[in-house]
Amino acid sequence: MIKAYAALEAKGKLTAWEYEPGELGRHDVEIDVDYCGICHSDLSMLHNEWGMSSFPLVAGHEVVGRVAAVGADVKHLQQGQVVGLGWHSDYCKVCSSCGSGDQNLCSTAEGTIVGRHGGFAEKVRANASAVIPLPKGMDAKTAGPLFCGGITVFNPMVQFDVKPTDKVAVIGIGGLGHIGLQFLRAWGCEVTAFTSSDSKAAEAKELGAHHCINSRNAAEIEQAAGKFDFIISTVNVKLDWNLYLSTLKPKGRLHFVGATLEPLDLNVFSLIMAQRSVSGSPVGSPATIAKMLEFAVQHNIKPVVQMFKFEQINEALAHLESGKARYRIVLER
Ligand code: NAP
Ligand code: ZN
Repeated sequence: MIKAYAALEAKGKLTAWEYEPGELGRHDVEIDVDYCGICHSDLSMLHNEWGMSSFPLVAGHEVVGRVAAVGADVKHLQQGQVVGLGWHSDYCKVCSSCGSGDQNLCSTAEGTIVGRHGGFAEKVRANASAVIPLPKGMDAKTAGPLFCGGITVFNPMVQFDVKPTDKVAVIGIGGLGHIGLQFLRAWGCEVTAFTSSDSKAAEAKELGAHHCINSRNAAEIEQAAGKFDFIISTVNVKLDWNLYLSTLKPKGRLHFVGATLEPLDLNVFSLIMAQRSVSGSPVGSPATIAKMLEFAVQHNIKPVVQMFKFEQINEALAHLESGKARYRIVLER
């Protein structure tokens, strides 16, 4: 039996719960969970905001732990190895996305907490293709948030060829955004943080921002008209997106990774006249995750974490929901 913390219904408190995982599949890995970050998507899934949760639900998809067992056909991972697991825990491996290295775009990829049980547990299982070893020199305690939050902000930098000469901005300095500032600074860019929390301005600069703008102050945002090559939004709320579009240079891009539920209401002429783009993306492929981990070690980039014990999981979730997390909560034993 695997001991876990599960919600038995949408918005329900998490309680100790066990499940029988069955025989370990030939291509699967069982991980002893040492740490698990809490992503805002865990909250959204626990609240069934996206209508794809099934209960009992064991959330948790920013896992770092040690390989406890490998299936008969797993050759590249060994028992005891320190590994991480993010949003995806398997891919079909035969579709054209998988074939071209874009496994994160595989339409039948399995979400670690979608129809299966995740990392708020003593153990978690996944297909070996989604389990990535931590590189030498990486701190296990702070690495978990890289496996979802980190890759989600790193992947667009690779996909859209963000350049060191680019002026870039991150909207929302939470779990994703605070890692985004660090990555973009190390990438060589001129970085602006858009935050609605004045109390975060000084820390945003320590994390890598050169400039800070209040994300809800229209007058301040207007001052940045035509400035950015690339903006990444990590917020899950509706902002004045047309105002943000106006801060892009010609050919600039407004990229969404935050799961805003309200439809975008965009001024098409603002896109047409300056050939601006709007886009979105989910996490990243295993190869891009491995590349990101190496980049993080090379540049000493670490998520800023607040540690909670696994048994304090309900307090930890309430802390995230209150907006007070600085900047990512990680559960430990
Ligand atoms: P988080 O830690 O809660 O951070 C979200 C940030 O959004 C907050 O820290 C806050 O930043 C800003 N924000 C919140 N409410 C706001 C408001 N009313 N007005 C303006 N700004 C507000 O969440 P997270 O874990 O980083 O996740 C962010 C979003 O990304 C979620 O929707 C999550 O589901 C999604 N996500 C997507 C992917 C993907 O693959 N695309 C992967 C992971 C997560 P400030 O205090 O700086 O304003
Ligand atoms: Zn996540």
